[in-house]
This record gives sequence, structure tokens and C-alpha cells, in this order.
Amino acid sequence: MAISKKDRELLSLYQSSGADLFFEETPQNHQGSSASSRITRHKQSAPQQPLKSEVFTERSASRIMADNSNNFQELCEAIRKFDGCEIKKAAINTVIYDGQVDAKIMAVGEAPGANEDEHGIPFCGQSGKLLDNIFKTICLSRKENLFITNTIFWRPPGNRRPTPEEIDACRPFLEKMIFLLQPKLIIIVGSTAIESLLRIKSVSMNSLRTQNHLYSNCYLGSNTIEATAIFHPAYLLRQPVQKKAMWFDILKISKMIEPFIS
Ligand code: URA
Repeated sequence: MAISKKDRELLSLYQSSGADLFFEETPQNHQGSSASSRITRHKQSAPQQPLKSEVFTERSASRIMADNSNNFQELCEAIRKFDGCEIKKAAINTVIYDGQVDAKIMAVGEAPGANEDEHGIPFCGQSGKLLDNIFKTICLSRKENLFITNTIFWRPPGNRRPTPEEIDACRPFLEKMIFLLQPKLIIIVGSTAIESLLRIKSVSMNSLRTQNHLYSNCYLGSNTIEATAIFHPAYLLRQPVQKKAMWFDILKISKMIEPFIS
């Protein structure tokens, strides 16, 4: 179908004003709410007080270890000791976190890559440098006010995407980490982190990044933490055209973090 000159001009106007999404995968009711004010509430797993029917459900080894960790140091020790993820056998390092443990902003990525595995530090390769530069524009840095971690703590061989089983095995640790550190905002970096934190699969990244989310888990009880999703920097390196969308998101995040950083 030929696009008329008028339509082309209109598309170009939308594009230059930052629009990157014309249709969403599911119909949305936008009446009375703007995209940036849409908040989705997410509850992860059962509350810590089990229901009667759940009393005999077997808890996973990582859940038991996470439950038994009383502070952040104990939790890091438990993660290092955990042997329930096969990929640990091929990894050089357990990669847990970087940045400030008292930061109000937490970024959660996918998994360590080769550089991260070698140095034991999350996001220290090419995509990590891009992420640092993006965060720097809104005065977020791991040296001052940012905590960075991943969905899983060992490098998947060949940098493949973590499997649902690996994500499930590490999730209790991530949940306990969030509970112990109590960030005010979680920046979810890429679709694997969305799958782990929000338990959402196969939903358009474009629709998730334009909503805000209320995150909770079994340790947080009825407390919720604001969360927002951004494209993974590795995706931006492959699809530079999406950088415009990233700036749109970063602008939104700069407003969200205002109360928490000086
Ligand atoms: N990509 C991630 O998601 N995390 C890292 O630590 C490095 C690359």
C-alpha cells in the first residue's frame, strides 16, 4: 500500500517528537489516564505466611537460603555458596552487585557476560559502559547513588539468555536482596529482568516501558516499590534507532528519582 506524502509527513512529525509505538498488542483504555501515569501492580509469590494448602509445599534450596539470610552480607554469602545452578560450574566468578548498598535506586539487568564473569562485577563490559553513560546524564552513578545487580549471578555459557529454571533458582535471592536494601525505585533493564521481577513473559517491551509498575514480593508483604523498565543497553547497541525511546524513558526516570537523589 502506497503511503501518501501527507501521511509520510505526519509519520515523520510523530517520529521527530519521540513516538516509537503506534499500536499496542492489546487494546488499552486510555480515557482519563496518560501513558506515563499508568501503574500496574505486580505481586510475585505467595505471602511469607503460607496459606493452609501451601504448608506442605517444598521450598527450594535458594528460597530456604534466602529466608535464612538476616542481612545483606549473609545473603551474598548464601549466593556464593549456592550450588543449585549448573552454570556456576563453568563460571569464573559469582557476580552479585556493584555500587552503593544504601542507594535508593536499584538497577536490575539480565546476567553476567564474559567481562563480568572475568572481573566479578556486573555491567563492566561494552553494554555496561553505555548504561553508565546513559545514567550519568541524570546524575546516577554506582560510585554515589546507584546499586546494580542482575537476575542471575553466573554467566550463562556463550552469553545465552538465562533459562526460566535459572531465573527461578535465583529469584529468591533477588527478592530478599530487594527486601534487605529497600530501594525506592527499581529500574528493570531489559526483558529478562522483567520476566524475573514482574513475572511477565512475551509482552511487548514497548508497552511495558511506557507503564510504571508497583513491585512486591513475599518478603515485602503489602509494601510495594515503584518500578520502571528500560531497553537493555546491548539491544540499543544492536538497534541504535531505539536510542530515542531510551532518552524518552530516561527523561521520565529523571523526574521519578528527583525526590531520592540530591
Ligand atoms: N548484561 C547484563 O544484563 N548484565 C551484566 O552484568 C552485563 C551485561
